Amino acid sequence: MKIMSRALLGAAFTCAAIAPALPQQSGTVDEGEVKRIIAEHPDYAVWLNDPALAKLTLAGPKMPGSQYNVDDIRRPQPPHVDTGTACAAKPPGDAEVLFDGHDLSKWTGDHFDQWTVHDGVVTTGAKVYNFLKTKQSYGDAQIHVEFREPAQPHPPANPQYHGNSGVFPMGLYEVQILDAEKNDTYPDGMMGSIYSQFPPLVNASRPEGVWQCYDIVFHRPHFDGDKVVSPARMTVMLNGVLVQDNIALIGATVHGKVGVYAPHADALPLALQDHGNPDSHVSFRNVWIRRLVE
Ligand code: MG
Repeated sequence: MKIMSRALLGAAFTCAAIAPALPQQSGTVDEGEVKRIIAEHPDYAVWLNDPALAKLTLAGPKMPGSQYNVDDIRRPQPPHVDTGTACAAKPPGDAEVLFDGHDLSKWTGDHFDQWTVHDGVVTTGAKVYNFLKTKQSYGDAQIHVEFREPAQPHPPANPQYHGNSGVFPMGLYEVQILDAEKNDTYPDGMMGSIYSQFPPLVNASRPEGVWQCYDIVFHRPHFDGDKVVSPARMTVMLNGVLVQDNIALIGATVHGKVGVYAPHADALPLALQDHGNPDSHVSFRNVWIRRLVE
């Protein structure tokens, strides 16, 4: 239920939840429920009328420890908070600068030539899903990334196609980048979420065209053979606001599924996602990382 309008932003907030609480489903979509949700949120019709998207957001697998399914649109939208316009500035003296506005000498990737550097920023541009990956590998780390959502005068019907990117510590654990100003989606897939696992504590996003910043503290998982000794943990600040508080990840982040761990190396490249959506290219600047002593 929408308890406050987005017109009242500022100190105010929105908290849209679809009430009443519903019995959980998995695998099938209840058409009556689709109609009921659309009646409450008419703007969801453009994508809930797509059977594949309805299935994704209403009939995913049950999320462990939650009353909701993975990628469930019935999960309440986190309240919005105003974060101004500033981002952190200069990298700390002991940071490894990964992108300073000049070149991509620290990076590689399967579609590397589709990432273009211009005017001090780097922008996604491929028509296929791909990653920009660091040449170096990292385990525990503090990561700073500044990014900008593209203007989308005519947003695509699928909210996941609106400025979708992501920061992937170890290339496996996604902190989502996605427009979250006029673009409701399943909360565990919105800006500030750990994708398909944990919604942000609040919606601390800024409008398209305004620079935003992620500060992430990442601790890698530890394995003993096939066994997980300790899970990956992440603390995430979006635009200076805590959105993920020392979260133990369920596994690698996977679209529409409960994440699982597969044993991997102690250090792997950091990755930035190009979701491959036309006319929806995300830009980056001032990317740096600090290795943490394990
Ligand atoms: Mg993404």
